[in-house]
Amino acid sequence: MAIIVHLLELVKMVLWTYAILCNTFEKCENTTKRLEITEYLVTLFVKVIELTPDGLLELLYMCINKLGPDYEGLELGIGESLLMKAVAQSTGRDMKQLKSDYVKCGDLGTVAKNSKGSQKTLFKPKALTVPHVFRTLKEIAIITGNSAQSKKIDKIKGLLVACQDEEAKFIIRHLEGKLRIGLAEQTVLSALAQAVVFSNKDNSKLSTLKKEELLASAVETVKYVYNQLPTYDVIIPALLKYPIEELLEHCTMHPGVPLKPMLAHPTKSLTEVLDRFENNTFTCEFKYDGERAQIHRHEDGTISVYSRNSENMSVRYPDILNAVDKWVKPSTTSFILDCEAVAWDKEEGKILPFQVLSTRKRKDVKEEEITVRVALFAFDCLYLNGKSLIREPLQKRREKLYESFQETENEFYFAKHMDSNNIEDIQTFLDVSIANYCEGLMVKSFDGSEATYEPSKRSRNWLKVKKDYLTGIGDSMDLVVIGAFYGRGKRTSVYGAFLLACYDPETEEYQTICKLGTGFSDENLQMFYDTLKDHVIEKPKRFYCLGENAVKPDIWFEPVQVWEVKCADLSVSPRYMAGVGRVDPSKGISLRFPRFIRVREDKDPESATTSEQVSEFYFNQANLQGNNHQNGKNMDYY
Ligand code: AMP
Repeated sequence: MAIIVHLLELVKMVLWTYAILCNTFEKCENTTKRLEITEYLVTLFVKVIELTPDGLLELLYMCINKLGPDYEGLELGIGESLLMKAVAQSTGRDMKQLKSDYVKCGDLGTVAKNSKGSQKTLFKPKALTVPHVFRTLKEIAIITGNSAQSKKIDKIKGLLVACQDEEAKFIIRHLEGKLRIGLAEQTVLSALAQAVVFSNKDNSKLSTLKKEELLASAVETVKYVYNQLPTYDVIIPALLKYPIEELLEHCTMHPGVPLKPMLAHPTKSLTEVLDRFENNTFTCEFKYDGERAQIHRHEDGTISVYSRNSENMSVRYPDILNAVDKWVKPSTTSFILDCEAVAWDKEEGKILPFQVLSTRKRKDVKEEEITVRVALFAFDCLYLNGKSLIREPLQKRREKLYESFQETENEFYFAKHMDSNNIEDIQTFLDVSIANYCEGLMVKSFDGSEATYEPSKRSRNWLKVKKDYLTGIGDSMDLVVIGAFYGRGKRTSVYGAFLLACYDPETEEYQTICKLGTGFSDENLQMFYDTLKDHVIEKPKRFYCLGENAVKPDIWFEPVQVWEVKCADLSVSPRYMAGVGRVDPSKGISLRFPRFIRVREDKDPESATTSEQVSEFYFNQANLQGNNHQNGKNMDYY
């Protein structure tokens, strides 16, 4: 018996080692098949659930490379030069050599691993464990203030010195902020659900068919629960404690945990809207041009404001926090509201353009120093007095919104809406929205099962109609800046043009889409130079998809900024790679006559326009022009 206990302890200890996790990462990296990746993860999770369930939460965070829920705001993403210093100091190699290796191989993780490999050590270091690595990564992320850099380097060195085999590669990639081994969060969620089913011994007796049904429903449940309550801190303990069928009862949404917002599909014409909602009731609302704000009031009265990215923006909006009591009716206790915060002219009582909002301070905002005021326009109520409303149709949610809150001048308004289904009325409402400094309309399913709130989805039950869609390609795009070209003439001291990319969440790549040189003010160019110069990298990241005939910028950047860009139209091009494989096997889609609109502070690079969306724009444009992309039109070979 003692031997068995001892053996079990030994297995547990091995499971805790970081090497076991790296081994799984390595297998995932060596395949592109999602099913295989899921299987590797399931195998690991099942073992952990059976032997060391207490470690599941940390292990899961390591797999998605996060340090906690998004709203806690603790992020990795350490700059390249700092990581290189740590590698140099821990392996005794010089920076010049390291840089040249990095230029050759393009992956700092691999450079670190190889550098360790060439190092001679007298003693084998003690094995790294998952909890230790996780804790240290967290400590590194938290360090701020005086000599933060050198303290971070010391901690990183501590990890690197203890690394064996593949470990250094993944430590560096954790620190860079992205593992890039194909572990999309949806895959991890699905593996987690399956592992819970497999680790329940009772399920092993089920028929294959029954087991498959159970697996599918478990995956659906876990994803559904996660959409409502995106925090593993609650979901994992509940999964370990209760049967999966009861998960929803123990993980209900509540204030303090921001939901991933529901998003809308772009449309090109009002007739498209009518076609989509034929035989359904729908409602039109003004589309306000500001910043999304999800406002939470907890049972204890605490208020929090979250951004579209689930970032806690409460410190940014002391004015909102202080006014809440005025617009909440006395019978209302806890709630979650979906609103747009818009720059507001108090004297004139009107909305100001988005550009004004973007000049508002983002950090350490004191109410008495605020120069740009905001007004809130509430368009949805997702949770009220202890109950979730997201399964209710919009009609009901709007009723609750109007019942439970009241408009207050210059602070809180209900989004303007119009419920007629007549095309002339909608056209007039669109014109009125533009006259009122809005971007256009949001048209939403109003009643029935299609009118529920779908967290995190870009749903066809919400359509956006912007004034300029009606003639252009359908929507602007939000693109990531990955390179720059030296300026000439008036622009010699700043970057003159930029290389932009869209994001492909399936391959985790940034795919080039255009060179952008118009739409900037002189202030813009100076600001971009000042902010981007700190993110210059020696060579393109290995996850930049450039193609063989690539447009080559003079300078490369880490993916840090997202810009909204408009264009005249889209064409297929051998020089850009956006959506490669979707329209042509080796060519991508590129933007013609792109123009800079604004910086999207509220979007991180991975929320940029996706390759799938770009190809949808392309096909929509082809349909609109009656073109078939294969007949050679819209092809740009130059
Ligand atoms: P876009 O950023 O172009 O995809 O448009 C979607 C954004 O419009 C949402 O994320 C909200 O921030 C904003 N918005 C403004 N008015 C509304 C509204 N009435 N309903 C929903 N979203 C709105």
